[in-house]
Amino acid sequence: MTKMISTPELAEIVTGLLVAPGATGELEEMDAHQAFVVEIARVVSEFCGGDIAGFRNDEGPGLVAVQWNDSLPDNGGVWAPYDLTGWDEDEVAEPMTEEAAAGRRADISKAVEATAGSINASLGTGLCDDGNDSDEPIFVNSYACPECGETWIDRWSCACDDDCPTCGARDISPQASEEVTDE
Ligand SMILES: [Zn+2]
Repeated sequence: MTKMISTPELAEIVTGLLVAPGATGELEEMDAHQAFVVEIARVVSEFCGGDIAGFRNDEGPGLVAVQWNDSLPDNGGVWAPYDLTGWDEDEVAEPMTEEAAAGRRADISKAVEATAGSINASLGTGLCDDGNDSDEPIFVNSYACPECGETWIDRWSCACDDDCPTCGARDISPQASEEVTDE
């Protein structure tokens, strides 16, 4: 079997590892966490520009040092709406105003929420979620794929249809569904 991880789910994993590694049970050694943080920043810089100069952990959750380089767009690209005074004027000609930065960050959060919502809906019937809300019932559904014979179990907030994780066949109804009242 293969786990199919959606981009919002991958984002959740990466966010957890970056911000709250204790909750993930991984990267509990500070060195490992720092190395991960710097590596993620390096991946962002490889695709979007900038140079990662290092990591400082003397302030709260830790800070990644990002230096200007010529692969960045004029406005500073993906790094632009953060630490608005971090780059000098000879580096970024037109730093973002606080208002523009707040607007950009709000637009990103809104778009992320909207996309995550529609992806979660497309994974189920549109009425289900993954049963993470503590006030909702949780159903443990077992499925068998009529196309390839794969069997799997998934937890949803209802006895909803699921897609085959192996061959991708859509809208398979559970063979059995059991409501779980307590974790
Ligand atoms: Zn299948």
